[in-house]
Amino acid sequence: MSLAENIGRVQERIAAAAHHSGRKAEEVTLLAVSKTFPLSHIRQAYDVGLRAFGENRVQEFAGKVAALHDLHDAVWHLIGHLQSNKAVQAAELFSHIDSVDSVRLARKLNSVAQGLGKKLAVLIEINVGGESAKSGVALDSSELGNLLNGAPDWPFLDFNGLMTVQPYNDDPEQSRRYFRKMRELFNRLVDSKLPAIRMEVLSMGMSHDYEVAIEEGATCVRVGTAIFGARESL
Ligand SMILES: *Cc1c(COP(=O)(O)O)cnc(C)c1O
Repeated sequence: MSLAENIGRVQERIAAAAHHSGRKAEEVTLLAVSKTFPLSHIRQAYDVGLRAFGENRVQEFAGKVAALHDLHDAVWHLIGHLQSNKAVQAAELFSHIDSVDSVRLARKLNSVAQGLGKKLAVLIEINVGGESAKSGVALDSSELGNLLNGAPDWPFLDFNGLMTVQPYNDDPEQSRRYFRKMRELFNRLVDSKLPAIRMEVLSMGMSHDYEVAIEEGATCVRVGTAIFGARESL
């Protein structure tokens, strides 16, 4: 199948999952995860109409971005773990950092963004399965509380939602309980109306389980393999 056909199929399935859970397809953003794939693939996806792209390594995207300048309305999201020492480069390259997972990183990004005179859209990444090998802030942790309560101190960060990478299982139904936990947290935060926190984006679900994620309330799904094919390595 061609890339355009892959995208068409994913979009159809997104729409179907949205409709049968009483939602509108337009409520769900398809974020194309282009990590490891060459510029030509990104351009093809752009030509088919996609605008949101996710890369998970600052270094890799630094090598791609110069050749993508003409895609002026493309939106670049960093979705992989960000180390504080790469915060400057990340803030220069990306408009969206979807993987903020510590007070330390938030503080650093805020001061970098201030220096650049730009505002960064950020999501708080939650380690919903509590896996030691994964990044993300733990559910119900004091670090999460500190991040949420610290938001007013970081005016160059626009906190607008949550992101998670759920524990992997081939069976997409196994992801459902994690997506539910995320939805519950998201709803609690919507209700608590914390200052400087907007809860609009719930980014969860990947190629094998994005339909389940949409049924459970995802507003953004991050899809790589189902669009671009299998990655050779990470
Ligand atoms: C690679 C990656 C994805 C996409 O995974 P696929 O299974 O290829 O769709 C989504 N989110 C993050 C954070 C990733 O690193």
